[in-house]
Amino acid sequence: MKYIFMTGGVVSSLGKGITGASIGKLLQMHGYKVTMIKMDPYINVDPGTMNPFQHGEVYVTADGAEADLDLGTYERFLDMVTTKANTNTAGHIYQTVINNERRGDYNGGTVQVIPHITDEIKRRFSAFEKKVDITIIEIGGTVGDIEGLPFIEATRQFMLEQKREDVMSIHLTLVPYIHGANELKTKPTQHSVNKLREVGIVPDMIICRTEHTISDSMKAKISLFCNVTKDAVVEAKSCSSIYHIPESLHKQGVDAFVLKRLGLKSKKTFSKEWFKYVKRVNTLKDTVSIGIIGKYADLKDAYKSIDESLKISAMDEKLNIDIQYISSEDKNLIKKLKQLHGILIPGGFGIRGIEGKIAAIKFARENKVPFFGICLGMQCAIIEAARNLLGLKDANSTEIYPKTKIPVVEMLEEQKSIKNLGATMRLGNYEANLVKGSLVHKLYKTDKIVERHRHRYEMNPKYIEDFKKVGIEVSGFHKNILPEIIEIKNHPFFIAVQFHPEFGARPTKQHPIFRGFVQASKKFKKS
Ligand code: GLN
Repeated sequence: MKYIFMTGGVVSSLGKGITGASIGKLLQMHGYKVTMIKMDPYINVDPGTMNPFQHGEVYVTADGAEADLDLGTYERFLDMVTTKANTNTAGHIYQTVINNERRGDYNGGTVQVIPHITDEIKRRFSAFEKKVDITIIEIGGTVGDIEGLPFIEATRQFMLEQKREDVMSIHLTLVPYIHGANELKTKPTQHSVNKLREVGIVPDMIICRTEHTISDSMKAKISLFCNVTKDAVVEAKSCSSIYHIPESLHKQGVDAFVLKRLGLKSKKTFSKEWFKYVKRVNTLKDTVSIGIIGKYADLKDAYKSIDESLKISAMDEKLNIDIQYISSEDKNLIKKLKQLHGILIPGGFGIRGIEGKIAAIKFARENKVPFFGICLGMQCAIIEAARNLLGLKDANSTEIYPKTKIPVVEMLEEQKSIKNLGATMRLGNYEANLVKGSLVHKLYKTDKIVERHRHRYEMNPKYIEDFKKVGIEVSGFHKNILPEIIEIKNHPFFIAVQFHPEFGARPTKQHPIFRGFVQASKKFKKS
């Protein structure tokens, strides 16, 4: 088993996840089995309760962990399925150590960061021992952060304990461009590498995020000051699509360097399929406009996987995609909706912006604009239909109005008794049976699907028959009772789902509903 540690310096948000996943992709293309682990230094045990304004989308793993959005990047690049073992926070680690202490596992010894916390971190580093060939570990945050120290220390110990050819360290830094001086600056990189060496880690490779080309002489300077060989100084310039990054790293010999450093040889003829596949981005002509009507219109990261899923489907349909983030509280909502070829209502929590979402769904339904509702999007579609088609003016979800007399969306009995906010959700993979003859059945081409969930409320099955009479049909059920999907037959494309299909799309394998939605939007544009 080989390990690659990815750390970041100078500033956050440099794209450690994307860079690590790109290296992982290249190693896969050489025939290796690769996984990625995220180590998040914050204390939250359950990132699900964190505010998307601060952290972007909450990703959901197949086994129901709520995780950082980097996990989505891992899944999309490496075509893997993440589980709880791929995501760790300082909170998880401290919780485990404290539970061990409560059980008496430490025999009354003093419990300390070194060795108890660092041992637990190291145990989690090797979670995939014997299951894969290479684990890439992304240490969240920036070198020098107080929270990150136990993780960096555990990395140092781990690197010391393993054979030199089994572990390596890659440091991602920023090389900023200073306008006045008209120059790229290497000083922050030097400082950042110094910081890393102070805590005992000597990077084997430095990847420099930059907006401009890094000259050979600049690479030589970084090599000299940071004590890495020149072929280990790599430029990571912003690309038009993140899926082009593996190729850019390959051209600079990153995979060759990593293989050599880890004492590995290419296992098979290097497969360039992925490069060819993502190249199609450059050959697109027509454009469709899709609106995502949600609460976090200013923060695209809050809908990261939806954004990627739409782009992937557009790429397959040879379309450019113009994704517009529109606040459901926008005063010009209807005017903006009129410019769109498809309307998507994403998942969400709480009351804010609900009425705008319901108005957008009414607009899509009545004007036959392709509509795709996800989770809260489906719940809003149910409320809209109940109010405007069944004439139940007071219909609501008990999340939005707990005292509603007409709870068309409700919490299941067994969930009502749970008080702890982080524990009440239906999380992770659940099966659904699709109704033959439905649009979703045609799209998925299968009777049974498994999709990831993250919600507390459900469509109230009591109203299924009433909805059927006005053309709203349930076309997918969990255990033949719980409605998972609704659709309208007499509409070019109106599908809403209780699960999160956006976690299932891959650049090499688009998701059937996203495909159908983008195709319908293309058709709508032409009509
Ligand atoms: N707030 C809704 C629920 O908990 C929807 C959740 C979601 O959209 N992810 O059921």
